[in-house]
Amino acid sequence: MIVAEKKSINEIIETIKDYNKILLLGCNECVTVCEAGGKKEVGVLASALRMYFLNQEKKIHIDEITLERQCDHEYLEEIRDRIDQYDAVLSLACGVGVQFMADKYLSTPVVPGVNTCFLGATEKRGLWTERCQACGQCILASTGGICPVSRCAKRLLNGPCGGSTKGKCEISKELDCAWQLIIDRLKALNRLDDYEKLADIKDWSSDRAGGPRKVVREDVQE
Ligand code: SF4
Ligand code: SF4
Repeated sequence: MIVAEKKSINEIIETIKDYNKILLLGCNECVTVCEAGGKKEVGVLASALRMYFLNQEKKIHIDEITLERQCDHEYLEEIRDRIDQYDAVLSLACGVGVQFMADKYLSTPVVPGVNTCFLGATEKRGLWTERCQACGQCILASTGGICPVSRCAKRLLNGPCGGSTKGKCEISKELDCAWQLIIDRLKALNRLDDYEKLADIKDWSSDRAGGPRKVVREDVQE
């Protein structure tokens, strides 16, 4: 899932303070799971903002809606008949939702209320860790299911660097060395021969760093 974290209330106030009528828009998907932008967070943020502006004696009206998804035309259409009532939308969706919204409703400013961080997993409540950088050419089959692209600080594809010490990454002692994890896992799977093989040269043109990508599926019809 996409993992995001809440922006500070001061940053949010700075981005919305010049508007009078604001739609605070949550999303029921990833940002709900990572407790950054779901219905609950919309309610808490709306109350905090109302309180702040009341104390400032500034009249700001905030409405709250949480859509099923903000990255889908179908759900964004649900606010079409009321979007013109607002001076701005404060979106708690990930950056995809914010942009989709901005594409769709050209005359309404949309500002983000969260920082989109990475593709990750929920380790436990309150802890999410990065697991994938959407490189577009998955190599997990040869690395024991552990991703060196997202979990090795140097994105090394053929074993650890010289800085790996006692299973920890040289970038931070708090981080496991991804390659140590890969070797341990391959050992456990009795697949250490995968480690001996030189990885194919990776085609980084399919990585998201090469510019925006599209996935077109002809087997999926409109
Ligand atoms: S190899 Fe690429 S697609 Fe596979 S998990 Fe890692 S970053 Fe994601
Ligand atoms: S110590 Fe391990 S995880 Fe850290 S950069 Fe080197 S190989 Fe990658």
